Amino acid sequence: MLKARGFPRLRSGQAMLKGIEDKIKSYLRANKKYAIKLLSNLIEIPTINPPGENYEKMVDFLEGECIKLGLAVRKYVTPKQVLDKYGVKGGSKRISLVADLDEGYRKTFHINFHYDVVPATDKWKTDPFRAMVKDGRIYGRGSEDMKGTIASALFALKALNECSINPKINIQLSFTPDEEIGGRTGLGYLVGKGLVKADYAMSEGYSGNYISVGNKGVLWAEIEVIGKSAHGSMPYKGVNSFERMNMLVDELEKLKNKILKRKTRYNMRDAISKNATFVMGGFLEGGVKINVVPGIAKFSIDRRLIPEENIGAAKKEIKAVINKFNKRCKDSKVNIRFVSQGSPAISKRDDAFFKTAADSIKATIGRKANFSVMPGATDMRYFMWKGIPSLGYSASGGEKWHSDNEFVYIDSLVDTANVYALIIKRLNSQNKSYSFCELTGKNCYGRKGYKNIRGKGA
Ligand SMILES: [Zn+2]
Repeated sequence: MLKARGFPRLRSGQAMLKGIEDKIKSYLRANKKYAIKLLSNLIEIPTINPPGENYEKMVDFLEGECIKLGLAVRKYVTPKQVLDKYGVKGGSKRISLVADLDEGYRKTFHINFHYDVVPATDKWKTDPFRAMVKDGRIYGRGSEDMKGTIASALFALKALNECSINPKINIQLSFTPDEEIGGRTGLGYLVGKGLVKADYAMSEGYSGNYISVGNKGVLWAEIEVIGKSAHGSMPYKGVNSFERMNMLVDELEKLKNKILKRKTRYNMRDAISKNATFVMGGFLEGGVKINVVPGIAKFSIDRRLIPEENIGAAKKEIKAVINKFNKRCKDSKVNIRFVSQGSPAISKRDDAFFKTAADSIKATIGRKANFSVMPGATDMRYFMWKGIPSLGYSASGGEKWHSDNEFVYIDSLVDTANVYALIIKRLNSQNKSYSFCELTGKNCYGRKGYKNIRGKGA
């Protein structure tokens, strides 16, 4: 790999200048046009997923921007067998771009971005793939999730460059596809193959004074209740799968009530999200005709796990209910199929990194930062599962992710650039970990909780 051209070296004495962070802030305020233009360009390359369109065009564009910032770039194409394994069909080649500012430090700070966006409905008031700047906002699909954050982070690097500030840690960026369909063929592939480096990692997450540090786990199941169909006038000749399903749902309801009582010790921004959840019937399928005893009924379970739970135990407790039911009702048969799963993810704690992020937010927006677990998953879990300290922080548009008329606040683009710039400037490859809680008291999001986050059964 080519060595990065790097940022211009500091002129002597300049590093001593007080107020260097004010200089960054002023630079960002004075040059927001850069971020607006960059984000507009990103929105106008419609990387709609599914099926995954214009990926090559997007990566070419990002490559150009990274080269302008002095980064060394390389690309990876996710192989067909990986796409096949995860059922990814159609659309563009799956290309990831990795960009380095490698100055030979011991540690690397990795920032990941997914560049795909979800499709847009025809309910938009503007063209979703034409950026519209209005009243301090930029409208367009992906403006908030997460092209705005791409623009902010590149803007941060540009500001550091223009202010002649050299990071004291290697910087690596990755721009990956397919987050919107689970990320296994994007960042999941890169991390699995060891194609990226990260001692600390960041990507999308909460915004404002919230930083995300993890997400709940997911377990999806399809349940099939097999009875016996018969003529509606002679029900005694059949076994009514719908009625059996109803009995089974009553039993599962008892399990559900137990599950709903489980509460994580981690901070969640919204208190209501602290509990584990269990949703039945999101998918539901049954009889065929009014005068036929239904022979098969099917329904789904969407189970979300708090960080203290694990997938194995969650499966076991559902299966136990089904096994008991099958023993009780021998003339019907219930089958369960787990169709998707992902463990809860929690960032490994690194006090120096967490404190740097919290302080950078405080210095930018003047409010104390809170660390919080998110209900939904992002690609950060691939780093978290590897035990890499990982945080999520995004430019905000009021969390209208995936909805019509998505937008991002221009002020948030600038603030988020400032946060990323300060984190990059302040992180130091030589940093030793120290106790965050001792330094900031309540700012720590669950010291006790941290000790036994893994392996504790449901
Ligand atoms: Zn996203």
